[in-house]
Amino acid sequence: MKLLVPTLFSRSRRNLARWFTLSMGSILVIFAAILYFLEAKDQLRAFDQELYNTSRLMAAGVEDGLYQEQQRISLEDVPILGGEALPFDNAIVYARWYTPKKQLLEFFGVTPSEWLNNKPGFQTIELSQGVSTTVRPNEPLRQLTLPVFQNGQLIGYLEIAASLAPVEETLWSLRLFLIVGVPIALSAIALTGWFLGGMAMQPIRQSYEQLQRFTADASHELRTPLTAIRNNAQFGLLEPIDPCQQQSSLENIDQIAESMGMLVSDLLFLARHEGQLKLEALNLINLVSWLQPLVEEYTYQAKTKNLQFTSEFPEQSVMLRINPDLMRQAVTNLLSNACRYTPSGGRIRLRVFLESRWVVIEVQDSGIGIPEADLPHIFERFYRVDSVRSRSSGGFGLGLAIAQQIVQAHGGQIIATSRLGEGSTFQIQLPFTSNT
Ligand code: ADP
Repeated sequence: MKLLVPTLFSRSRRNLARWFTLSMGSILVIFAAILYFLEAKDQLRAFDQELYNTSRLMAAGVEDGLYQEQQRISLEDVPILGGEALPFDNAIVYARWYTPKKQLLEFFGVTPSEWLNNKPGFQTIELSQGVSTTVRPNEPLRQLTLPVFQNGQLIGYLEIAASLAPVEETLWSLRLFLIVGVPIALSAIALTGWFLGGMAMQPIRQSYEQLQRFTADASHELRTPLTAIRNNAQFGLLEPIDPCQQQSSLENIDQIAESMGMLVSDLLFLARHEGQLKLEALNLINLVSWLQPLVEEYTYQAKTKNLQFTSEFPEQSVMLRINPDLMRQAVTNLLSNACRYTPSGGRIRLRVFLESRWVVIEVQDSGIGIPEADLPHIFERFYRVDSVRSRSSGGFGLGLAIAQQIVQAHGGQIIATSRLGEGSTFQIQLPFTSNT
């Protein structure tokens, strides 16, 4: 079982990290693909725009040529028109001029067919052989076929092509960036997932371990009295049956069952009252008058144990919003401990005072005190400073845990200070402003 738990948690952590990486990774990959697609589209659109601008400039040159040289044109002259350099400079692989009847008239670059076969518009093509030192075989080219009009009349078709190499280069750089970047980002995501998984598992693991410890302690606490009940029952049933022995066994069983009942109700209490109390569960009470019955009860109890019990309350009333039943249980636990762990002749003092924004209920005794090493643990469930001294006094180590849970449910805190052999002081600090 002990081995199973770490495996269970590390498996859950791995699963969390895996799902995180998978979901974040998918988002990343989709995002990268969309980015690449949009960038490719954008690059091609810009390239087409440039190609179109070039073709418009060339077409203007052709129109000029037609006008000036009665249909004799020279496409070689076209790239520099009116002193304006074409956007593509020398990147135009070929240019062709066709008559309105689609017959070839003039060209430079790759030798075209006699007739124009393409529809007007953009096309991406590949030439089987290289055209120049700059254009390799099978290099993609972008070709534009443009009908040219003058005064609303079709005067021919211009077909130009430019190498897509610059676009390809930009896209290749982007691809390279994504090919390297995406796995690195995925690794970072996986690491983050592992780290986050660990952080998410931490509180679950802690409360699981706490619950396991609590269950083990509770079972252990219940097993001891159960064994005692069984022993007493067997003893009482021994032949020949002795009525006196039977009576004593039954009394023992009754006592043990009563103590077990108390333990079970303590356990139920701890299980039921987790978290902060709702406003409906709180009553506005005068703390001083509310504590009065407890003072009377413990003055009497202290007297029976030969202890001196005193109380000190402020003159004015202290109005607080608390759950009276739960708070009585918390104060009672502190007072019972003070009586329990103070030897005959000792002193117990119950005090209420205001300290900045806190109302403090203090229980002080001159008892046996608590060793320094045990002090940080006394609020833990089933923690007993010394099981021998506590067991002989009948405690299960739950009283302070219950008191702390109650005080915390009221938004307060409980503080213990102690000196071994000199006595202990427990302070219940309740927020004053928010409660009234
Ligand atoms: P228990 O029911 O065993 O008293 P608690 O949770 O009330 O359990 O207290 C935890 C431990 O703290 C006890 O075992 C006891 O040793 C110690 N303790 C609590 N209150 C006092 C006190 N006033 N003086 C000395 N020791 C105390």
